[in-house]
Amino acid sequence: MAEFNNLLRKHGVQVTAQRLAIMAAVTQRPHATADQLTDDVRAIIGSISRQAVYDTLGVLTDKHLIRRIQPAGSAARYEDRVGDNHHHLICRDCGATVDIDCAVDAEPCLTASDGHGYVIDEAEVVYWGRCPSCCDGTGAAEPIPSSHPTIPLPGANHV
Ligand SMILES: [Zn+2]
Ligand SMILES: [Zn+2]
Ligand SMILES: [Zn+2]
Repeated sequence: MAEFNNLLRKHGVQVTAQRLAIMAAVTQRPHATADQLTDDVRAIIGSISRQAVYDTLGVLTDKHLIRRIQPAGSAARYEDRVGDNHHHLICRDCGATVDIDCAVDAEPCLTASDGHGYVIDEAEVVYWGRCPSCCDGTGAAEPIPSSHPTIPLPGANHV
């Protein structure tokens, strides 16, 4: 946890056991939802409230220690790979998510064809499709229930 300790300090975030555990959880499982991370953090430090996890994820995101991605129809997900404006490829069926570097070069998406005078710092690009496991019919190991953008489950009550 020493690396996270330094990282938090460097970004001016007060170091607490909860924040360290949440950083560790985000690093261990990139693109996880807050609910998944709550389970992971409980496995590390025991009890923590869902609200505390949400609040801390917000603080860490604001301080640019982690990045929040918000795919259409899915719960927000978090990752520790920040600052490179990479993109995501998401399976429509099981929600499996992988990182994709910019297709052309380092960060060409940040150069809009017409910026309209805005100072642009992020371009959110999501590629949707079906992962190899879903194309095989085997499905992915860990389906994420709240991530199905195309066929909402009747009666499902996602936040
Ligand atoms: Zn899939
Ligand atoms: Zn990513
Ligand atoms: Zn790009």
